[in-house]
Amino acid sequence: MMTAKLILGKEVSGNIYAELRERIATLKAKGITPGLAVVLVGDDPASQVYVRMKGKKCEELGMHSVTVVLPKETTQAELLAKVAELNRDPAIHGFLVQLPLPKGLDEEAVINAIDPAKDVDCFHPYNVGKMLIGEPDFLPATPAGIQQMLVRSGVETAGRHVVVVGRSNIVGKPMAAMMLQKGRGADATVTITNSKTRDLPAITRQADILVVAIGKPKFITADMVKEGAVVIDVGTNRVPDATAPKGSRLVGDVDFEVVKEKAAAITPVPGGVGPMTICMLMANTVHAAEKRASGQ
Ligand code: NAP
Repeated sequence: MMTAKLILGKEVSGNIYAELRERIATLKAKGITPGLAVVLVGDDPASQVYVRMKGKKCEELGMHSVTVVLPKETTQAELLAKVAELNRDPAIHGFLVQLPLPKGLDEEAVINAIDPAKDVDCFHPYNVGKMLIGEPDFLPATPAGIQQMLVRSGVETAGRHVVVVGRSNIVGKPMAAMMLQKGRGADATVTITNSKTRDLPAITRQADILVVAIGKPKFITADMVKEGAVVIDVGTNRVPDATAPKGSRLVGDVDFEVVKEKAAAITPVPGGVGPMTICMLMANTVHAAEKRASGQ
C-alpha cells in the first residue's frame, strides 16, 4: 500500500505563469500586448464564473482582456457578426465563444467561423486536424494542461499505457490524440474508452496512467486502478454536502480517498487539473501573439 504523491495544478500552473510573464514582457518590449476576448451569450451562472476568471487572469498577467456579453436572445447572424469583428480586430490575438450556447444557436457554425489563427480553445476543425497529424498550432487547454502536469511532475509517458476514460471533443478525444503523438510527454500506448466499453475495470487496471473525464462522481474505485498508477481526475461534480458552507462540494470522477492509497501519483479535485485549463488558455493567447509578431 502506498500514499500517492499529489500533482497540484496550482503549483504546475504557477511555474507556467512565471514563464508566461517573461514572454509577455518580451512582447511588450516590442509594443505588443497579447489580447484575449471572451464572448458570453446568455446568463448561465457557471459560464459567467469562468468568463470572470479568464478576464481576471488576463489582468493579473498584464494582458489585454475584452469580455463581450450578449443577451440570450442573440441571433445566429448577430453572433457570427461579432465573431467576424473579433477576427478582424488587431488588438485581439485570440478569442473564444464560451460554450454551451443558449438553445437555438449553432455551436458548430460559430466555431467554424473563428479564424483558426485566433482559435485559442483549439476547437476549430483546422486546429483539431493539425493536432491529430502532430503539427499543432494550438493544443486544447484541458488536455494540454494535463500533459504539462505529467511532464513537469516527471511522469514518463513514453512506452507507458495511457487509458483515457471518456471521449468528449474537449477532453477525452484530444487527450488520447496528444498522448499517441511522437515526442516529449507523449509516445504512449493509448486506449480510449466510452460508455459502451465492455468490462471497463479490466481495461483501467492495465493503465500506467489513467485519465478520467466522464462527469460521474467517484466513479473510479480502488479496484479499477493498478497499484502504482498515475491517476488524473478531470471530473468536476458538485454533490450535496450539508457540512459545507454552500451546502455542496466539488468531487472528481475518482474516489480520491481510496484510490490515493493505491496510486503512485494523483490529482485532487479541486486543486488538480482545474487551474490548468485557464493557464493553458493564457499560454495559447501568448503563443498566438508571438506567432503574429514573428509574421507567421
Ligand atoms: P462529456 O462531454 O459529458 O463526456 C463524457 C464522456 O464520458 C462521454 O464520452 C461518455 O461516453 C463517457 N462516459 C460516461 N459514462 C461512462 C462510463 N461509465 N464509462 C466510460 N465512459 C463513460 O464530458 P466532458 O466535457 O469531457 O467532461 C467530463 C468531466 O470533466 C465533467 O465533470 C466536466 O465538468 C469535467 N471537466 C473539467 C475541466 C477542468 O477541470 N478544467 C475541463 C473540462 C471538463 P459516451 O460518449 O459513450 O456517452
